[in-house]
Parts: sequence; C-alpha cells; structure tokens
Amino acid sequence: MRVFKFGGASVNSIERIKQVAKILHSFEKEELLIVISAMGKTTNALEKVAEQFFAGNKEESLQLFSQVKQQHLTTAKYLLVRNYLACEQSLTNFFTEVEWLLYDKPVRKFDYYYDQIVCVGELLSTAIMSAFLNEEGIANTWIDVRDIIRTDDNFRDANIDWEFSQKQVDQQVKPLFKKNRMVITQGFIGATDENESVTLGREGSDYTAAVFANMLDAESQTIWKDVEGVMNADPKQYPDAQLIPELNYTEVIEMAYYGAQVIHPKTIKPLQNKGIPLYVKCFLDPSLPGTVIHNKTVQGLPPIIVMKENQALIHLKSKDFSFIGEKSVGHLYHLFEQLSIKPNLTQNGAISFLCCLDDKPEKIEQLALEAAIYFDVVVEKGLRLLTVRHYHHEVMQKLIGNNEVVLRQQSPETAQIVMR
Ligand code: ASP
Ligand code: MG
Repeated sequence: MRVFKFGGASVNSIERIKQVAKILHSFEKEELLIVISAMGKTTNALEKVAEQFFAGNKEESLQLFSQVKQQHLTTAKYLLVRNYLACEQSLTNFFTEVEWLLYDKPVRKFDYYYDQIVCVGELLSTAIMSAFLNEEGIANTWIDVRDIIRTDDNFRDANIDWEFSQKQVDQQVKPLFKKNRMVITQGFIGATDENESVTLGREGSDYTAAVFANMLDAESQTIWKDVEGVMNADPKQYPDAQLIPELNYTEVIEMAYYGAQVIHPKTIKPLQNKGIPLYVKCFLDPSLPGTVIHNKTVQGLPPIIVMKENQALIHLKSKDFSFIGEKSVGHLYHLFEQLSIKPNLTQNGAISFLCCLDDKPEKIEQLALEAAIYFDVVVEKGLRLLTVRHYHHEVMQKLIGNNEVVLRQQSPETAQIVMR
C-alpha cells in the first residue's frame, strides 16, 4: 500500500487532470490512498470569500463564491459524461453547506468561519476527480476525510487526535481497499468532535498524506509536483538550481525550518517515526527520477539556498546599558508567544538583542510597542534573509554579491545573512 498526494497545480486544468488519470492508470494493480488538494488557486479564492463574509459583505462573499462554484461545475462538465449528474449532486451539497453559512451573520471568531468555508475546496476537487477516474475505468472509493481525521478546535491550525483518527483508519479506511484498490480523499482538512470542519494550516495536504502513510503503515509516500523534485534553491530565484536526488529526513526538516518551500514542515515526522520513504516526483514527466527522502545519511550535498524576502530586523537595546539577561530575553520570548511570532533569526549581545522576522506590519508594530517597555526599539524593514546549508566561501561571496551585510550568523553547517 502506498500513499500519493497530488497538489493543486496537478489538477488546475483539464489537461493536467487527464495527466493525473494517466499516472494512476499505471498503478492500477496497487493499493493506493490518494490525497488531492483543492484545484489551482481555489484555496486563495475561498479565503477571500471568508474575508468578505466576516467583514459583513454578504453580497460580495456570495458573488465570489459563485465564481468558485462555476469553475468547478464547468470542469466537471468538461470531464464527465456518465457520472456528471451524480457528481453535480455531490458538488451542490457542498455548495449548500457553504451558502447556508454565508446567509448567516458572523457571531463566532474569524478562524472558525475560515475553516467552514475554505475546507470545501478539497471536497469539490476530490469529488470531481473520483467521478472522473471511475468514468475512466479507474475504480476508486471517495471518502470524506472529516469522518476520519479528528482534531481539536484550534481552527486554521488544528491538532490531530492520533488515537481517535487511527481507530477510524483501522475501522473505516482499511476495509475499503478490499472493494476498490484506490481510495481518494482530501488533505488539509479534518473535523472536531462536534463535527465542525477544521484546516491544518496552509499547504497542509502533504501532512495529511503523511498521517495516512503512518496510520496505514504504507510502504512509501509520493508527492507529485510540477517540479522535477527537491531542488537546492528556488529555480525562480536561481536559474542554475539543481535537483537533489537523495535527502535525509533531518535535512528536509532543517530546510523547511529555514523557509524552503519544499514540503510542509509537519510532513516528515509521521514518516520518520515509521521509516517510510518519501518520494517527490514530477507529474508532468513521471519517468524523471525525482527525489527520495529517507533515514540514511546522505553525503556530498550541494549548498542548499533559501532566500527570504520582505524581512524586518528589530534592534532592541537595554535602556540603562544593563546586560541583556535571562529576564529580558524571557520577556521577549513571552511576547513572541503572545503575538504568535516566529523569529527567523535572533542574536544576543551584551546590551542588545537582534531579531529578524517576516514583515507582518501589525505584528511588528505590536511587538515594538510592547517591547518598548523594556528596551529602546528600532525597526528596519525591506531586508532579505539568506540561509545556506553546506555553505562554502565562494558560494557565500557569490550570493551576497554587492549587498550590504547587516547581520551574520553561522555554524559549521549553516550560514545566515541578513542583507540590505
Ligand atoms: N489547498 C490547501 C492550500 O492551498 C492545502 C494544500 O494544497 O496543501 O493551502
Ligand atoms: Mg498546494
């Protein structure tokens, strides 16, 4: 049994959906659990629906939602013949779930509504895919993952109840493979014990797939993407980025930690715990080797480059030239926690503390305001944070170029530079 995950880009056009079917055809003899994301930019579109609804703009939210509806109905119509009516009925049920809510007035927190609205993206895409695959002779069973993955009610970043979910997987999912070898479901979403929908954080489908791989003791997980595999840099920023054929779990966790947009950061742990290899493959050309991520040590990795734009640097100085000690650092970390701020880099000096973070203006303003009780605060914006793992002198020189270095921090393995 293996787990496959197809991202939004693999189902964002009729052509690509047909390509996914072609890939699945070649695995017809295997037991597969298949997780599929919302189509293309649907999640972003649904986020807008939620925002308009919460702002009290009912008409706008309904209008934006009707665009999402139309796109899915059109896609279904293009793809399906025999199964169209049945599929349309399932889509309509999901539409109604959302519309019913949009006609109400918001009385709960935004994050709750966000999850009730945004979750529909994956339900729609998987319903269409399942119907299409069945029509193509790829027999499969569709399941609503909200019946399986139980979480707490930390909306937009819900935590999985492993014990309960495992029980559902054993009782409800495992028997399904006896009927059809392929089971299709959603990533990124789940439900609370009160049957409220939740999401697990943006890009969370990789993580759901890994949770299933763990719970089903899968022999492997494959993430199908529109790139060759895991690259040592973002090819959009660095045209000479190269493919890394093999990586260790820990390396991927490190890469994700420093902001590489490879794989959702939570994905690795469930796989690592059971030693399940993760393949990253290109759905446009399945014959390419891609990347394998596993437990073995990998030697001779190229420099791995992560560039984060839009960084702010906060300079904090003790007011009376006293040393920055446990107490003041404690205050700061307490603030980070309160404001859910994740610093990308911190540096502690005798009377100063530097902190580089993503420039989210409201959060930074709040942090600066609160920190001003204990420190003199200066904020600098418009910076870039360069992280290089397995660096060497030449590559650093080349990457820094003529930029001015504001802050540098390095270990034998990783160098980080804040540049102006
Ligand atoms: N559709 C969700 C998102 O775009 C989840 C995912 O694709 O992983 O964030
Ligand atoms: Mg995605």
